[in-house]
Amino acid sequence: MARMRINCPDCNFDLSVNVGQSIVRDKLVWHRSINCSNCGAVYEEDGNETPEEIRSAIIKENGLWGISLVSVESKTIVYKVLRECLGLSLSDITKLSNNDSIISGTETEVSWLRNKFEDKGISAVIKRLEVKQ
Ligand SMILES: [Zn+2]
Repeated sequence: MARMRINCPDCNFDLSVNVGQSIVRDKLVWHRSINCSNCGAVYEEDGNETPEEIRSAIIKENGLWGISLVSVESKTIVYKVLRECLGLSLSDITKLSNNDSIISGTETEVSWLRNKFEDKGISAVIKRLEVKQ
């Protein structure tokens, strides 16, 4: 859970709202709860593709996380998981393949990806990355 500032959709009042991501029935979802202290408007928003502003609010509060694979017996399976989960093309994946952490994102995103790899028998570890300021 993180906080971000937006303007109330009804009265334009400047609000601090809760945003977050979770894994629901194997899917990665995001949500935002708006509860306006000025006009009383209440909105619950959610969806599959996390909007960039929500992602950056979460990363700002909880850090950037990376996932690396412990043992890779078949690169084909790794590519398949990455393609299915993230919609990456083969050339995107080739660019990533020589880094320590193959993918970075929010803690929920990389945990979700770890579950996907473990479903296919590939062990993966996630860790918080040091972000250079
Ligand atoms: Zn309002």
